[in-house]
Amino acid sequence: MNRVIFIGTSDAFGAGGRRQAAIFVETTSGGLLLDCAPTTNTGLTALGIPRSAVDGIAVSHFHADHFAGIPSFVLASIYEDRRRHPLVVAGPPGVEARVVAAADAIGHSITGREMPFVLRFVELPAGQLVDLGPARARSFAVHHQPESCPHGLDLEVGGRHLVYSGDTGWFDDLPRHTRGADLFLCECTFHTPLFAEHMAYRQLVERAPLLGCERLLLTHLGPSMSERRGQLELETADDGLKIEL
Ligand SMILES: [Zn+2]
Ligand SMILES: [Zn+2]
Repeated sequence: MNRVIFIGTSDAFGAGGRRQAAIFVETTSGGLLLDCAPTTNTGLTALGIPRSAVDGIAVSHFHADHFAGIPSFVLASIYEDRRRHPLVVAGPPGVEARVVAAADAIGHSITGREMPFVLRFVELPAGQLVDLGPARARSFAVHHQPESCPHGLDLEVGGRHLVYSGDTGWFDDLPRHTRGADLFLCECTFHTPLFAEHMAYRQLVERAPLLGCERLLLTHLGPSMSERRGQLELETADDGLKIEL
């Protein structure tokens, strides 16, 4: 059985007092974290999910609320968990350099330490199918700030098809990636459109039929979405929500 557990579902700034982007995908062949915000260790602890259950972290893009939690995840795995099994960190091209530089900048360097486990970086160039263990992943380019190397993730998880938008505004090629998905986890930062680089609810309500997915679930909710949760036509995620896939 595959399960999806939402560790963090807020926008970049913690709207509604919730945690930032991190989604745990639990499969019969291991666990994969989609994005790893700085609040991820807190979320995993709160939900009783050990870091050792995470075999890989797949990063959608290089914004802090999606990958800046990796250094502390690695350090806690070394010193607190005494982890022994490998950890894969996958992401857009340049992922290793970006994570190493971020770790150095915030004083949680991950280089020059004695590592009791293998930390392996894997690049996910758009369109290429890569086996990450718990899932096979293919990334695709999305519409977001280009300097963050923005990608969505198309995942095969134990015979099921999961698509994660990462951060993106609407772009006309999106349905090509979501069509036929069992579950599409889509960012929805705003209720009414505000920036072209983020999705808005009004756009999604109108265009949802084009997506062609079995189930659509909204995450990365900003203040205007967070305060409307439970009053909307489309389904929204919340921290700690667990669903079967
Ligand atoms: Zn974000
Ligand atoms: Zn972003």
